Amino acid sequence: MNMDFMGRQMVIHPTLIWDNDAVILVDTGMPGQWPQIREAMDKLGVPLGKLGEVILTHQDIDHIGGLSDILKASGRKIEILAHEADRPYIEGAKPLIKMSPERVAKMLETLPEERRKHAEAMFTQPPKASVDRTIADGETLPLCGGITVIFTPGHTPGHVSLYVNKSKTLIAGDAMVVADGQLLGPNPQATLDMETATKSLKQFTQYDIETVLCYHGGIYSDNANQRLEELARSQ
Ligand SMILES: [Zn+2]
Repeated sequence: MNMDFMGRQMVIHPTLIWDNDAVILVDTGMPGQWPQIREAMDKLGVPLGKLGEVILTHQDIDHIGGLSDILKASGRKIEILAHEADRPYIEGAKPLIKMSPERVAKMLETLPEERRKHAEAMFTQPPKASVDRTIADGETLPLCGGITVIFTPGHTPGHVSLYVNKSKTLIAGDAMVVADGQLLGPNPQATLDMETATKSLKQFTQYDIETVLCYHGGIYSDNANQRLEELARSQ
C-alpha cells in the first residue's frame, strides 16, 4: 500500500490474517487509507463483517491511522489490541510519543504552505481508540491457529511483533526493516531507543521463522532464521 508521508512516497504493509473463523488486521495505515485496506479485503474475498480484531504493533501514526474509520465502517464491535505501554498514546490520554508539539512544529516547517494545514490537523489530532485488550510478551492469542505476542520495545515503549504459528511468519512491525532485499535491524531515524530496540532483536531467535514481514520493506524469506541469528549476534 502506498503512503505519502510529508511529501515522501513510501510503501507500507498492514497485514491481514484470516481463516474460516477469524479475520484479524495488523496495523491500519495512515489516516485516510482505510478505503485501500477495504478494497484489498474485497479483492481477497474477506468480508468486512468478519473482521473481529485489530492488533496494533505500536502507536505510530502510520500504524494507527485507520482506526476511527475502521470502527465506523464495521457494524460489529471490533476489538483493538495493543501493548499496555503504548495504550495511553493510542487512546489519546498522552500525545503520540513522536508527535510532541516541538517535533510537530519542526516537521511542519519543512512543508510547503499548501500542505501544512492538512499535516497539522493529522499530527495534532491523530485518530484514537480505546484499547479493548492489552497483550503481553509470550501470550498466544487463540486465533488463526495461534498468534504469539513478542514484546520488542525500543522503536516505541510498547512495540510488539507477532508470530503466526501456523505459517511460521513473523510480523515484525517496525522492529526491523527490509531494504534492497536485505533484512536489517530497526531504522535509527525512526527509532526512539536504539539500544533497547537492538536488544529486542534477540527475542526472535527463540522462534522458528520462515517468513518475516516488515511494515517498511515487506517480505523477507531468504533463510530467515540464520539472518535473525546474525542480527542478534552482531549487537
Ligand atoms: Zn513506527
